[in-house]
Amino acid sequence: MHFTGRTWRPRYEANSVILQATSGCTYGKCRFCSLYKDECFRMSPMEEFEEDLAEIKSFQPGARRVFWTGANPFAMSYENLKLRALTVRDYLIKCQTMAMFASVRDIKDKEVWQLKKLRAMGINGLSIGTESGDDETLALAGKGYTAADIAEQCGKLDEAGIEYYFVYMTGLAGKGGGYRNAVNSARLFSRLNPYFISVDSLTLFPGTELYSMEKEGRFAAAGEKERLAELQTFIPISSSPSRRKISRKQPSSHLSGICRFAPIFLRIPAPTFIRLRLICLRRGNR
Ligand code: SF4
Repeated sequence: MHFTGRTWRPRYEANSVILQATSGCTYGKCRFCSLYKDECFRMSPMEEFEEDLAEIKSFQPGARRVFWTGANPFAMSYENLKLRALTVRDYLIKCQTMAMFASVRDIKDKEVWQLKKLRAMGINGLSIGTESGDDETLALAGKGYTAADIAEQCGKLDEAGIEYYFVYMTGLAGKGGGYRNAVNSARLFSRLNPYFISVDSLTLFPGTELYSMEKEGRFAAAGEKERLAELQTFIPISSSPSRRKISRKQPSSHLSGICRFAPIFLRIPAPTFIRLRLICLRRGNR
């Protein structure tokens, strides 16, 4: 298998076959992230991609879900995604869905009809490291998009019926900003239909811009109590029926995979639409 640089997948994709489609990140400017600092973005050549598929086929011909690695394979053009999705299905005839990381930016250049076609080809399951839905926090983190961008682009995914998962990062707004971040993020996320929301907490890694900002006194990290209070604010607003629009289009293809990890999901009572995964191991990216 061809794996270059840092290769990882979310825990809920533990049962998926991993296939390298890209490596590195197209953006690399998030102020808290050091994940791909020393790597350039690279698309795996089709020969490599097919060699890996042939190897997977020899060991797991019945693979049903494939996770494409790289920070954001969804940055590829519609035509490239289409070619690769069809190639995966050529090799793995039982494959039902293909998942990957994606940025809000990666959805912008795709029309809804293209998203619908990608969904029909099996691309279903985008892990989107939104981190926040609060404009001030998004700007502080250097995410490069706004809450309006999240609403517009993820609304397209809803329309196309593509399943997606959000990440919310506590502590990212800095000391004193947790409440505002929680309220604005929960309100935004509730207008959309993420299949679940993962929660992690900011870690200041040396080498990141946010780490330097803290050393220079330009950023103050929130304490543990504020982060917990932030989460306590975020959860009820996210799960409020009055704020949530439940999509009847949500596909269930990935449900079996999620259920296997039920113990690590905090289920919100009544509606099953939002599940919050509490990640005990704190990490500072995605
Ligand atoms: S958080 Fe994601 S999008 Fe931002 S720099 Fe890191 S890998 Fe790239």
